Amino acid sequence: MTWVTGAADSPYGVHNLPYGVFVEGGRAPRIGVRIGDAVLDLDGAEAAGLVLAGGALRQPSLNAFMALGRGQWTTVRRRIVELLTAEEHRAAVAPLLRPLDEVELVLPFAVGDYVDFYSSEHHAANVGQIFRPGQPPLLPNWRHLPVGYHGRAGTVVVSGTPIVRPTGQRATPEGPVVGPSTRLDIEAEVGFVVGVPSPLGQRVGVADLATYVFGVVLVNDWSARDIQAWEYQPLGPFLGKSFATSISPWVVPLEALEHAWVPAPAQDPPVLEYLRDVPHRGLDLRLAVDWNGHRVSEPPFASMYWTPAQQLAHLTVNGAALRTGDLYASGTVSGPRRDQTGSFLELTWGGAEPVRLPDGSTRTFLADGDTVTISGTAPGPDGALVGLGEVTGTIVPARPV
Ligand code: CA
Repeated sequence: MTWVTGAADSPYGVHNLPYGVFVEGGRAPRIGVRIGDAVLDLDGAEAAGLVLAGGALRQPSLNAFMALGRGQWTTVRRRIVELLTAEEHRAAVAPLLRPLDEVELVLPFAVGDYVDFYSSEHHAANVGQIFRPGQPPLLPNWRHLPVGYHGRAGTVVVSGTPIVRPTGQRATPEGPVVGPSTRLDIEAEVGFVVGVPSPLGQRVGVADLATYVFGVVLVNDWSARDIQAWEYQPLGPFLGKSFATSISPWVVPLEALEHAWVPAPAQDPPVLEYLRDVPHRGLDLRLAVDWNGHRVSEPPFASMYWTPAQQLAHLTVNGAALRTGDLYASGTVSGPRRDQTGSFLELTWGGAEPVRLPDGSTRTFLADGDTVTISGTAPGPDGALVGLGEVTGTIVPARPV
């Protein structure tokens, strides 16, 4: 039981302990760990000798710490639990706590490469039906490999960053035009953050997820459907995606999710050997999408067809190296029901069935001034919840061309 006031029954108790980077009073960014509604200053804790990580916690990002590997992650986590639960440490540790609402949370790690998958069968089938009606909803490769693409790491931003409506080319009956996107959408996803690098030319196997992956974040892969639809053939997503990708400020360590593993959906046909993960398991993360404060969807991550271990194995099967800070996102999380879809493309069925918000207005895609917040929880020990935090963003008008 933690001595931090209000934290014992919180989804951010000592069973969670997500890491982030915060700024206060114009000082340099510092690594912290969330406990209840407070942040424990880990930079200060390492400076005081309360926790030892070879200086890795005295950095402006999580990268050096994430590069240390599983053994050190576990040691530091155990020590933090000790500091926050044993009464004997209270006098030394309490002065290092900051109320959450008094700090600014910044991007928690320097993003290496960014990959985005497409691993929800419900999402892929919905998109197939919307864009290719009358044809098989899934393309022939979909059940054989986790389809993905390389996104733009430099435009991954922290939750709360305003999202400028992207401008680009879209097709009209009169020919292509350039202008602000008129079909701006979200994609609710889960991102996996790589801690330990791998050498070029070497594969990472399906059994090695916990060796390489440090933790998870929530992701909103903002998507301009009109720009995407015109540009994507034959090479895939480009400017319709690369203008911004938002992530939650807290990286939840994989260790905090040990109670969230569940069997993943059966795969048929059987996958190739390098993708055969035993156990074949996913994470029971429950997402929620709020549009201007109104809950419109609750996507279930447990329904994903391809697992994070399979995604990692596929991402490196060609010998591509992993770097600390690499981020790979799951792809839009959609369950079987309409109120479980992770994009407004699906929620409004291609814009044909608008959503009514409590203020009486209707929406198909995002209007300027709209705010979308994706949040999530996971099952923890003894019925507790693990809070995944939230990723939020507000749309601001396009800049003139
Ligand atoms: Ca996506």
